[in-house]
Amino acid sequence: MTSTTTSADLFARAQQVIPSGVNSPVRAFGSVGGTPPFLTEAKGALLHDADGNEYVDLVGSWGPMILGHANEQVVEAVRAAAGRGLSFGAPQPGEVTLAEEVVRRIGPVEQLRLVNSGTEATMSALRVARAATGRDVVVKFAGCYHGHVDALLAEAGSGVATFAMPGSAGVTAATARDTVVLPYGDSEAVAALFAERGGEIAAIITEAAPANMGVVPPLAQDGVGFNRFLSETAHAAGALLISDEVLTGFRASAEGHYGIDGADRSWAPDLMTFGKVIGGGLPVGAFGGRADLMGLLAPAGPVYQAGTLSGNPLATAAGLATLEGLDAAAYDTLGRASSTLQQLVADALTTAGVPHVIQTAGTLFSVFFREQPVTTYEDAKAQDTAAFTRFFHAMLEGGVYLPPSAFEAWFVSTAHSDEVLDRIAAVLPAAAKAAARG
Ligand SMILES: *Cc1c(COP(=O)(O)O)cnc(C)c1O
Repeated sequence: MTSTTTSADLFARAQQVIPSGVNSPVRAFGSVGGTPPFLTEAKGALLHDADGNEYVDLVGSWGPMILGHANEQVVEAVRAAAGRGLSFGAPQPGEVTLAEEVVRRIGPVEQLRLVNSGTEATMSALRVARAATGRDVVVKFAGCYHGHVDALLAEAGSGVATFAMPGSAGVTAATARDTVVLPYGDSEAVAALFAERGGEIAAIITEAAPANMGVVPPLAQDGVGFNRFLSETAHAAGALLISDEVLTGFRASAEGHYGIDGADRSWAPDLMTFGKVIGGGLPVGAFGGRADLMGLLAPAGPVYQAGTLSGNPLATAAGLATLEGLDAAAYDTLGRASSTLQQLVADALTTAGVPHVIQTAGTLFSVFFREQPVTTYEDAKAQDTAAFTRFFHAMLEGGVYLPPSAFEAWFVSTAHSDEVLDRIAAVLPAAAKAAARG
């Protein structure tokens, strides 16, 4: 082993033994081009790569690092847990405390089961919904991403959007037939589908606020929010609503996006899914909701779901320490960092004459390179991805690490201090000029 291995060397080696050199597609920089920096160390809001570069991080591992990298309390909790044993495959106290904390924070969650990823969470929630209703069909929205679950990859966001894929090969025709994809926010299409096939539908699954095609907040129609409309429509037909808060949970607000559009308790999802922040950087997902539905899970109920490493002490320690760090002051800091950064980006792009629109869901935001607001996946795809690519590379060159895709949210953390934001501000004008040079 050499100690002077560069990112280029590592990427070349990786491509020999790992498909495309990466373990998750967007990381390959395929849509923006170039060699992805191989990261070796991170602290707070800063990243270091194998080539000796330092970057301000606006990816945050796609959400989990909400308290910044190597947060002392989180690292200490993990270190202490590691010393007591990495995994037991048996009940342990940390999983009880983490589940209690989620139930305390998230109104609609009465019971929760821990898994190892957001994908497992949505896959399992879907199985519960199908078992509860005795129906097969699931409704999803174009541009929403729910992990790499067979039934949910059609017209998905995240990497599927980044690489402009219609879905995924390897999904059976029977599975695809049981998934109906509708345009996001289209209440009429939802109503029409339920009028025709309501009795076949097990569940609607939606991101609480889509954030994997960029951030597309749910809009109200005639004073009724889209999520509330979905819950009412589903329930009228005996179907369930699964609200996917893997990305928005514990980030959009303390109670996730539900804390924004469910705060008046006029509606509630039947099941919710979590991931990312809930594990604080270790592999944790969770699904939860109504106790009668969660009671369908084995061993008491007929729905099988299991996991060798589910609820392991290391993962629950990281998740718990992260949630403990997320107090009211932390959300204030996040909110301020997010709005300051939005303003800086808007100013720079406006000055350079670059068409853009910034959309938010609580403290979550993304930047679309087009003039008009984005309400659907079609809108999101109509942005100027070439302008984003020029902007992205100029930012990277200047030491700011953005998501390598025009379809992803930008992630701040409580470690994004004014000093860190100043460093971003210093790079923005040149990057905006690069974006403008068409
Ligand atoms: C990231 C994400 C998932 C998948 O989670 P993984 O942990 O990557 O499997 C599911 N749903 C949403 C909304 C996500 O953002």
